[in-house]
This record gives sequence, C-alpha cells and structure tokens, in this order.
Amino acid sequence: MTLATFIQAMPKVELHVHLEGSIRPETLLALAQRHQVDLPARTVEGLRAWYTFTDFPHFIEIYLAVSSCLRTPDDIELIAREFLAGQAAQNIRYSEVTYTPYTHYLLRKLPFPEQLAALERARAWAEAEMGVTMGLVLDIPRSVSAQEGLLTAEWAIGAMGEGVVALGLGGPEVDNPPEKFKAAFDRAWAAGLPSVPHAGETVGPESIWGALRALHAVRIGHGVRCLEDPALVAELRERQIPLEVSPTSNVCLKVFPHLAAHALPRLLQEGLYVTLNSDDPPMFNTTLTEEYLHVANTFHLGRETLEQLTLNAVRASLLPASTRLELEQQFLGEFARLRVEHLL
Ligand SMILES: [Zn+2]
Repeated sequence: MTLATFIQAMPKVELHVHLEGSIRPETLLALAQRHQVDLPARTVEGLRAWYTFTDFPHFIEIYLAVSSCLRTPDDIELIAREFLAGQAAQNIRYSEVTYTPYTHYLLRKLPFPEQLAALERARAWAEAEMGVTMGLVLDIPRSVSAQEGLLTAEWAIGAMGEGVVALGLGGPEVDNPPEKFKAAFDRAWAAGLPSVPHAGETVGPESIWGALRALHAVRIGHGVRCLEDPALVAELRERQIPLEVSPTSNVCLKVFPHLAAHALPRLLQEGLYVTLNSDDPPMFNTTLTEEYLHVANTFHLGRETLEQLTLNAVRASLLPASTRLELEQQFLGEFARLRVEHLL
C-alpha cells in the first residue's frame, strides 16, 4: 500500500470547510443557468480560471457571486447533499461545516428556519445513506454590523438542538477585528455555544489575541500567523488551542507564496495543536485527501504524523464527549488495521 492509498483509505474528520465554498462546479453552472445568474464562466474550465484569486477581497467578491446562485431551500439541500457525498467518498466520517445564513437571508430573504430545515434534510439523508454526518458552524460575515452579527448568534443559539455546534466568524479580517462582535459571542458563550472564529489569516497576531480574549475562541480558523508573536505561540501551546490549518487555501489567497513556504512544519515543531482542512475545496482546486497528500509529500510527513493530525481533528471536534471517544477508538482500530496492510 502506498502512502497515497493509505491517505485515501484513512478515516477522517474535517473541522474547517465552508458549504457555500464547496459547491461542485457542474452544480454551480446548473444553478446559475436555472436562476439566470450571469456568471463570468460557462464551463468547468472557465470556473477554474475564474477561481484565480488576486487577494482576499477578490476572493470574497467571487464567494458572494457564487452564493448568489443559491435561491431556494432546495438549492441549499442539493449542495449540502452533494457536499456530504463528496466527504463520504473521501472517508470523512464527520465534518464541522461552516455556513453563512445571513447572506441568504439578506440576498434572497430566505427565512433562517427554512435554511436550517434544508440542511437538516441533507444531514439526515447522508447519515441514513452513507453513514457520515455533519455539525453546523453558523458564521457571522465580518463585514456586517455588530447588530446584524447578533442576529446570527440568536439563530445559532436557537438551533443548538438542531445540528448547530458553534458560532463562527468569517469574511474580511482586515478592518473587522474580533472585538467588533464581542456582544454576539458573549451571548453565545452564555448560552453554552462554542466559538470558532477565523483569525490570523490575513491579519497578524492581534486578531488571534482578540479572538481568544474577546470572543472566547475554543479553536482558531487558520491561525497560521501566530508565529509572528512568540508570546502568542506560548499561549496557544500552553492551552493547546486547536488551529484549523488549510495549506492550499493559504497559498491561493497569498498568505504564503507557495506550499513549501507554508508554516505547517513550524507550527508542528512549536508543539501547537494542528488540524488539517480544505476550507473551500473546489474554489482552491483541492480536497481534504489532497491536502494530506500535498503536505505529506512537501514536508515528508510519515504515516504517524498523518494519523496524529487526524486524531487531533477528532479530539478537537465539538461532538458530545462520548461520541468523540467512540470515534477516536474506532479510528485507532482502523489505523492499526491499515498499518498492517500498509506493511504488506
Ligand atoms: Zn474558512
């Protein structure tokens, strides 16, 4: 068994992946046609070329254009089903999926309960048909006002028994510091809803400090720029705050010039808690499986490190403790079995 076969076969968990950033190119083109949205591309190859980002604001512009192709609850259910089928094909048993309900509420006046019901239908279908499932991270897009952010927090708190596992914070980090949304995250924290904001991707350490101090963050989306501040590295190491690292995303959005220059090996050397993720896989022309493969090849990571990264994701997931332990035991058993096959 080659390392590539091992990576493909390995059971996985993914903690940082956006539903609206995971629409299959073929499906996006079909939705654009159905709803008469004039995208600048009409073919899969054209979309690939369109997904060449100059910087983070350019990425957000394209992300919003993609989001505007979602008009009905059926569209949301369709992309969620296809997403979960794609995760199942990679043996990703559980995903914590970021979804931005406010965008669809604002753009299409889609009531939140209808969005949630569509996601729940997809989740139930995937669990019954393929044995994979997801938890939802509802994120506040940072460009909205603090008041609008509170609405997402209220929705998320109200849906805690219906698949929502955390409150997130995404969108343009520059000029939108974590502190802006303190009230929303305070409310979530008081209700017992965990906080998993993006921080330290396009802004440096102060954004991560803000996420820890003002937003009660239990994990950090990206966080790769923590290395610019040794005191922050010490804090993250001491508290073992999981970082949701997405290498190809960071290269596509020019956080690092190329994969070999990525911070991943240094984060590991510093003893930080690292998980591996795909972020917006078709937009970055990647998958979680490919992320494992790319970092294994680029940084010469062995099977043990890949297994550790996977177990890190299981342990940092927001599943109930008993389910998390069960999943961990299951993964350990499958790793042992794969290891035997790997040696043959
Ligand atoms: Zn993200």
